[in-house]
Amino acid sequence: MIRFAAGTPLIIVLLLGLVACNNQPYPTESSNDMNNEVQTITKTEEQWRQVLTEEEYRVARESGTERAFTGRYWDTKAPGIYNCVGCGLALFDSDTKFDSGSGWPAYYDAINKNHIKEITDTSHGMVRTEIRCARCDSHLGHVFNDGPRPTGLRYCVNSLSLKLVDKDTGE
Ligand SMILES: [Zn+2]
Repeated sequence: MIRFAAGTPLIIVLLLGLVACNNQPYPTESSNDMNNEVQTITKTEEQWRQVLTEEEYRVARESGTERAFTGRYWDTKAPGIYNCVGCGLALFDSDTKFDSGSGWPAYYDAINKNHIKEITDTSHGMVRTEIRCARCDSHLGHVFNDGPRPTGLRYCVNSLSLKLVDKDTGE
């Protein structure tokens, strides 16, 4: 009886620890880490060109846009996690992917809002909200307010900014 009573809180503590780890799977600075913010990484242009293809570089590092209906994921229905092509940070779950009809992969929610940085984009005579990877600053696409429930958001993302990996193995 005593052993069970003493062990129970320990199990709860361990479970809480696991949940916390899942919510924050990346190392963060111990100071100035107020809101679970992701620690940023930087690479030189040459380093980026080594890890990205020419097309990926144009979209992710130069805020390019792939042509609609041509990307590797616009019509993909396979389950998995969509990671940042630049640094592997988990961005979108296939469970939130939907067919927006636009020709680009679309998601109604992010895996973790802290993983995505939003920037006001006034290019092309429009006011839009650009989305970038919070860790490596790669351009992803834009987020709009015309998505489906429950969020009403539509994260419109370039396939070239993403890498689909298996949910269990991460590969
Ligand atoms: Zn990234």
